[in-house]
Amino acid sequence: MIVEKAGEVLERHELCNHCLGRLFARLGKGTNEERGKAIRFVLNMERSAEGLPPINEPEKCEICENVFEGIPELVEMMKEVSEGVDFETFLVGSRFLEEVCEREEAIWREFGIDTGEPINREFNRELGKAFGLATGKDTSKKPDVVFIMEPYSGEIELQINPIYIYGRYRKLVRGIPQTPMPGFKDSVASIICRAFSKASGGKCVFKGSGREDVDVRMLGNGRPFIVEIKRPKKRKLNLNAIVEEINASGKVSALNPRFVSPKEVENVLTKNHRKEYLALVLVEDGVTPEEAGEVARKLKGIEIHQRTPWRVRTVRADKVRIKRVHKVEAKWIDEKHFELRLVTDGGLYIKELISGDKGRTRPSVSDLLGKPAWCERLDVLNILDH
Ligand SMILES: [Zn+2]
Repeated sequence: MIVEKAGEVLERHELCNHCLGRLFARLGKGTNEERGKAIRFVLNMERSAEGLPPINEPEKCEICENVFEGIPELVEMMKEVSEGVDFETFLVGSRFLEEVCEREEAIWREFGIDTGEPINREFNRELGKAFGLATGKDTSKKPDVVFIMEPYSGEIELQINPIYIYGRYRKLVRGIPQTPMPGFKDSVASIICRAFSKASGGKCVFKGSGREDVDVRMLGNGRPFIVEIKRPKKRKLNLNAIVEEINASGKVSALNPRFVSPKEVENVLTKNHRKEYLALVLVEDGVTPEEAGEVARKLKGIEIHQRTPWRVRTVRADKVRIKRVHKVEAKWIDEKHFELRLVTDGGLYIKELISGDKGRTRPSVSDLLGKPAWCERLDVLNILDH
């Protein structure tokens, strides 16, 4: 049946062994070229028995125009394009001209062939095999780089996939924003990204899991962050050396860096962690140790209704969030100051929890004291993962 059908096709169309074999790609094993060669061999034996001339491979294949012969040259071009790029795994994709695919599909229709494989699939596979052999690199479904080929013009687009690194940062000093802001020379993001860009040769994008204000320190176990490195020249980074460089800033330190997948990135960035804070509360009208202790007792376990703070109303949707204060300890400092150590749900604004934000946060420390209170200094002590 196969040989008979192949004979019918070859009497009307001039095909190379690749394109002949590909018509029957879903039958049996081996490459399309081997399959085409074998079919042609048997067909020509039969033809010879019938006294007919053999049908050899044409000068120029009607479907592919001998595109497969160009593979060694394309491999060299791929090597050139990817020179200096650090990668272990790759994938090949190709853009075939519409007319080539149409010529192939017209033959499937003409002869009722339903065992064929599209030309780009074979081409990608064969080019990938050849490039792998030449370079020792492996193909992968999650590759470091993707070569997108225009097989006829020889144009190559090299897509370098990003790498993602998870870590936690501590902000050891006040007065630096998390991300660049006018009027500030440095930011947590710029200090971290500088080290990663230098090591990878790529462009870095920093994303924090939430943020603290410019004047708030981030201490303890640090705040989770992700660095995305776009088009890295180097992928196997020495993360410890990068962390050392960040730590040398004296302003920001990084902890627990590791490579993560895009899926993990999402988890890190969408998780809303409980947090532990230390706030220094100022009460201009004066506060006694008893009053400070009373505030702490009242706050514990309480539900806070917090409307989007006035100061962030332009960047956050205005809505009422219901958050809880889980743990509170008060420590009286002097006639006008006491400290509050708090564990709260993620997303509760602490400065407003203290001031009340003109009634937008209820209840607040001001409400519970019965006199105005302000957050004079704030540190995030820990970001709690559970
Ligand atoms: Zn061909």
